[in-house]
Amino acid sequence: MSALILIMGDQLSFDIAALKAGSKETDVVLLAELRDEASYVQHHKKKIAFLFSAMRHFAKALSEAGWKVDYVKLDDKNNTHHFTGEAERALSRHQLSRVITTHPSEYRVLQMLKDWQSRADFPVEIQDDNRFYCSPEEFAVWAEGRKQLRMEFFYRELRRKTGILMQDDKPIGGQWNYDSDNRKPPDSSVPIPAATHFEIDDITAEVCKLVEIEFAHHYGDLEPFFFAVTHAQAEQVLNQFIAERLAHFGTYQDAMRTGEPFMFHSHIGFYLNCGLLSPMQAVDAAHEAYNKGLAPLNSVEGFIRQILGWREFVRGLYWLKMPEYKALNFLQAERDLPEFFWTSQTDMNCLHQCFSETQRHAYAHHIQRLMVIGNFSLLAGLSPEAVSHWYLCVYADAYEWVELPNVSGMVLFADGGILASKPYAAGSAYIDRMSDYCSGCKYSPKEKNGDRACPFGYLYWDFLGRHEDKLRTNPRLGMIYRSWDKMSDEKKQQITTQSRAFLEKITPS
Ligand SMILES: Cc1cc2nc3c(=O)[nH]c(=O)nc-3n(C[C@H](O)[C@H](O)[C@H](O)COP(=O)(O)OP(=O)(O)OC[C@H]3O[C@@H](n4cnc5c(N)ncnc54)[C@H](O)[C@@H]3O)c2cc1C
Ligand code: SF4
Repeated sequence: MSALILIMGDQLSFDIAALKAGSKETDVVLLAELRDEASYVQHHKKKIAFLFSAMRHFAKALSEAGWKVDYVKLDDKNNTHHFTGEAERALSRHQLSRVITTHPSEYRVLQMLKDWQSRADFPVEIQDDNRFYCSPEEFAVWAEGRKQLRMEFFYRELRRKTGILMQDDKPIGGQWNYDSDNRKPPDSSVPIPAATHFEIDDITAEVCKLVEIEFAHHYGDLEPFFFAVTHAQAEQVLNQFIAERLAHFGTYQDAMRTGEPFMFHSHIGFYLNCGLLSPMQAVDAAHEAYNKGLAPLNSVEGFIRQILGWREFVRGLYWLKMPEYKALNFLQAERDLPEFFWTSQTDMNCLHQCFSETQRHAYAHHIQRLMVIGNFSLLAGLSPEAVSHWYLCVYADAYEWVELPNVSGMVLFADGGILASKPYAAGSAYIDRMSDYCSGCKYSPKEKNGDRACPFGYLYWDFLGRHEDKLRTNPRLGMIYRSWDKMSDEKKQQITTQSRAFLEKITPS
């Protein structure tokens, strides 16, 4: 029986399971630009333009490969702007009576597909997503009975299972992890290669015009637009990363430099998450570079761990813990987002730099997300719901399955330690060491009191004091609480007063 093959905006892979299960001869492929999906949170304009352009290019490529494709544009007159309406219309247009699709990446979309399955008139076949190393079921088996779920042990299992960076069941080089060689501060004598840029073609130009009009009120700059929008271009980004940046990836993984949003990172997350690249392609390319002696083990292992380890781990955790995970708020953080998350207008230079780059590129690298914006959100007690909403809006690689565990678990400790063994809280010394931001700041990391004192300094101690009842027993925080205990009451009071005044200023109650 002929079928409608529904491809969602983050399923743009030629070998996606739904296409493999279908037939070019008899089936119709449906792709639709939906207002509901583009604005259920107000996604960055660049993210919407990127995805619509990638979808249009993918539809064209599928047609050229012989598939019958039905593409619904955002401004098509009868577009209902939701999956259900568009699937129903397409079934009727093509006189089909069943749908094949691939397991969606988000919980809310899976619930929608389950609703369809409960309807007699809407048979839906949901194929497993074949674009990961580990299925949710395999992850659940791994997690079963474990007291703690730690990425490092999961990653080692996947290394053993896949044989990646392994020799005779032992990690190549003798260690699983080379982080001790990594994490050097930025070095201005090491030039940072330019990020890969692409010219806007007619399809992207048309989409950008549409987004500028239809999503004018959304966050972010549409220009400059230089993202890859086809598989070939995304592969070019990967190849250029492997050739020019991978060798330094590990060493400068945590480094931040003013005006250098991409540093030695790969900026392939956008493409991995929507299907223009596969994680296997990226991991294999890095492995091959190591085999050819083009990049050292500390960089190659570090890069592979991000994809084979972290990316797979957060996905497994998402499907294991949803929907409860989304509501967790272990530290009972309730503060609203300060306005400067959206405007970038703050005197704190590190935040200003990271917000400005986010606004311009719909991108910030991991340490900017974790140790600057994330750390601030944790220390300031911002609500997990508000922070999660912001991260989902502003990054072009953001989808709930990967954003939520990173925000709720890694950054805010809102899950109480399911993902991380302790909160990633830090004062100003870390940012001062790993970036050049402090030299251009109104505040000073050296000052502890007064108007020039860096807010990270006092907010850090205030955070530890505020959450003493929940965090003191954490074995990894024992030493820090011993320092806290040594502080005089007067000093503690000063920290509390400074912190209250600062927080009241950024989000008046
Ligand atoms: C608060 C916060 C929110 C985040 N939100 C997202 C998100 O919405 N989408 C997203 O893809 N990543 C997210 N990350 C993870 C990571 O920051 C981005 O994947 C990375 O910055 C993307 O840039 P890149 O492609 O240059 O990555 P690189 O640094 O070059 O790393 C290579 C790849 O490894 C994977 N990766 C690295 N770290 C992680 C991680 N912690 N979790 C999952 N995958 C990882 C990504 O696919 C990335 O493309 C978040 C991290 C934090 C701390
Ligand atoms: S002094 Fe503080 S606020 Fe300013 S850039 Fe450094 S860490 Fe950020």
